[in-house]
Amino acid sequence: MHLDKDTIIKDFKRKLMVMYAEDVKEASIMHKYYALGGLIKEYCSKNWLRTNKLYSENKVKQVYYFSMEFLMGKLLISNLISLGIKEVCEDALKELDIDLRELEDVEKDAGLGNGGLGRLAAGFLDSMASLKIPGNGNGIRYKYGLFEQKIVDGRQVEVPDRWLKEGYVWETRKHDKAFIVRFGGDVRVTQEDGRFKIIHENYEPILAVPYDVPIIGYNNDTVNTLRLWSAEAVDKDFDFVSFSNGNYVKAVEYKYSVEAISQVLYPDDSNEKGKLLRLKQEYFFVSAGVQSIVRKYKKLGLSMEKFNEYIAIHINDTHPALAIPELMRILVDEENMPWEKAWDITIKTISFTNHTILSEAMEKWKLEMFKKLLPRIYMIIEEINRRFCGELFDRYEGDWNKINKMSIIQDGYIRMAYLSIVGSHSVNGVAELHTEILKNVVFKEFNDFYTHKFNNKTNGITHRRWLLKANPHLAKLISNTIGNNWIREPNKLIKLKRYSKDRVFQEKLLNIKQSNKIELSNFVKQNYGISIDPNSIFDVQAKRLHEYKRQLLNVFNIMNLYNRVIENPNLDIVPRTFFFGAKASPGYYMAKEIIKLINAVGNRINNDKRVKDKIKVVFLENYRVSLAEKLIPCANVSEQISTASKEASGTGNMKFMMNGAVTIATLDGANIEIKEAVGEENIVLFGLRAEEVINYYKNGGYSSIDIYEKDKRLKNIIQTLKDGFLDSSNVSVSTNEFDGITNKLLHNNDEFFVLKDFDAYVRAQSKIDMLYKNQSKWQEMSAVNIACSGRFSSDNTIKEYAKNVWGV
Ligand SMILES: *Cc1c(COP(=O)(O)O)cnc(C)c1O
Repeated sequence: MHLDKDTIIKDFKRKLMVMYAEDVKEASIMHKYYALGGLIKEYCSKNWLRTNKLYSENKVKQVYYFSMEFLMGKLLISNLISLGIKEVCEDALKELDIDLRELEDVEKDAGLGNGGLGRLAAGFLDSMASLKIPGNGNGIRYKYGLFEQKIVDGRQVEVPDRWLKEGYVWETRKHDKAFIVRFGGDVRVTQEDGRFKIIHENYEPILAVPYDVPIIGYNNDTVNTLRLWSAEAVDKDFDFVSFSNGNYVKAVEYKYSVEAISQVLYPDDSNEKGKLLRLKQEYFFVSAGVQSIVRKYKKLGLSMEKFNEYIAIHINDTHPALAIPELMRILVDEENMPWEKAWDITIKTISFTNHTILSEAMEKWKLEMFKKLLPRIYMIIEEINRRFCGELFDRYEGDWNKINKMSIIQDGYIRMAYLSIVGSHSVNGVAELHTEILKNVVFKEFNDFYTHKFNNKTNGITHRRWLLKANPHLAKLISNTIGNNWIREPNKLIKLKRYSKDRVFQEKLLNIKQSNKIELSNFVKQNYGISIDPNSIFDVQAKRLHEYKRQLLNVFNIMNLYNRVIENPNLDIVPRTFFFGAKASPGYYMAKEIIKLINAVGNRINNDKRVKDKIKVVFLENYRVSLAEKLIPCANVSEQISTASKEASGTGNMKFMMNGAVTIATLDGANIEIKEAVGEENIVLFGLRAEEVINYYKNGGYSSIDIYEKDKRLKNIIQTLKDGFLDSSNVSVSTNEFDGITNKLLHNNDEFFVLKDFDAYVRAQSKIDMLYKNQSKWQEMSAVNIACSGRFSSDNTIKEYAKNVWGV
């Protein structure tokens, strides 16, 4: 987009005038932000319309990415970058005495996701638009996104995230494109003209109203759409009054109960609760999404038989799996298609990504509850399963054990992962190791039955947000060194490898990291009152708090290091600042205990003069996309230390390497592919392998007590936890405070192998210290990591999905 400074100034002033009847002098920073946002929307609207027209006139195949979560973060600056007007806009605002970064501070993160899964969906939208792929997002417009985290007295406190309070500048409400979603009621089967007809009555109708957000491609005139659905009561002249019996208070109560469906994002990461409201949410956005796709498709005037040639629906984990029976319902009940034909089309339309092997995260729904809420969908799932079990019977005649094990309906539950595998043509894992575990362990029987369905698509990240936007100085250095082709073709980053030993380049790389670190140090000083040394190693673990991610292992190493420094004040280590950023699910007791421990340890160490600033621990509150953008460009060390086999892919690992951090890692998820990309000499590995972990779970042979008894360091650490010595002014900790943690480690046999991997981790951390002392070597490692990060751009991932899964 070509715009000069004067045009932007003129347009911006006009926008302020039209929206608020104010000039630049009078307008608050908030109004300036909304005026600029409105202006950007105006700038992209022509291309938005043009893109939509292009797609429908050429009848190109469309991809719909269904996801319960889209973790979008902020859009102001990334939209400016995509339009190619960030610099000129910055200059224009400067002329008006406005700092673009201050305007960005006004924007609230759209935190409609928990972590990696939701961020992946957001990154994929960016890549699809930037690759000119006709790709749309379909999700829920939660009134409250993921909770805001405050740390009070060392503990996590959750505060509602009122991100819509001042209005969301990027969305457009499309009331005329609303649909009815039906819950409950009775289903009857009658005959009409010799055909079965399904009558669904006495149901509760809910209005699904879409809000569209433009997804702007990078400098390519493409604007795709993220459609988020909001739940509303149907107009009062419809069911509203009769349902509430004319009773005003009841009517209002009813309105609230309806709106509850899109009220709040469940704050669980990798842990399903089986709540009725969650099931309502899932059917709500899936039904609205499929209905709107079908209506739009029919406008093209094509036969329903060709649906899958023009439409691909991707389900991000099992949360949108009801897209399968919902599409069947529409094809069979509303379009009068024979079951076999409808089933063939459904399978060819749907593809599925699995995100985890944790058994507690595998969704399943109680039959009774499901039947009552979604009676017709239940009948369809029963029929899908009846036919599937028939196929199994033909193949494995008499092997009832196997058939039972694979049945979608089992022990009074519907298994959503099985439904998703049976009802789709493609099932993918998100890193090579994860896909192998799916094929050989978790879904082994299904892989034997349908070998063609399973495939790998390693996750990716958008280099536009995580490098171009988050680390502009580094992006500039890269462009000055190898040209700017890498922005369109991220694999070109590999050209940087030639400069990894170049002293001049290394020096520049160091300076950029250093200035990023200084900026973060000031932020920490201002917001937390903690002085940190920008010359210390910035060691960062930022991700959801979960036992399998093993923040606890990190803390144990810190406690051990602290003990060593106290024992030997002259200990020769590079000063290190350990950063944590992590939200715990509000109901996850152990995760909250670990947050408390990190803060207790930090408080103790940061205030102990004997440490002489050799170690600092900083817990940054409210980890979210915008904080990640601040933090990751400052990292020297990236902590990716999950129990091997548990982290399906990880994407944080990719963001850090792209910003020049060296990874300390277990051989888990995409860490393995990072190792392959950078070579073993440019990553620090430790710990149990996935097959060893799986073998211990299967055959036993691990005793955490044995490890504990033999390791003096661990005995000291656990003793410290028991003594409550961590007590200090800000974080009050009593003697039994951490019994939950010690019990799980010692008396529950340490499910995540923290004690088992402790020694290897401590040694790996010493290796980091040693490597860092050789600065030229360290800068070389850092450069190689950046150079090899291009393959993890989500553009590559999306190209693979487009070619091999969606056929676009
Ligand atoms: C990338 C990202 C994640 C995922 O991090 P992992 O280390 O892969 O778990 C979580 N939260 C936010 C805010 C992110 O940006």
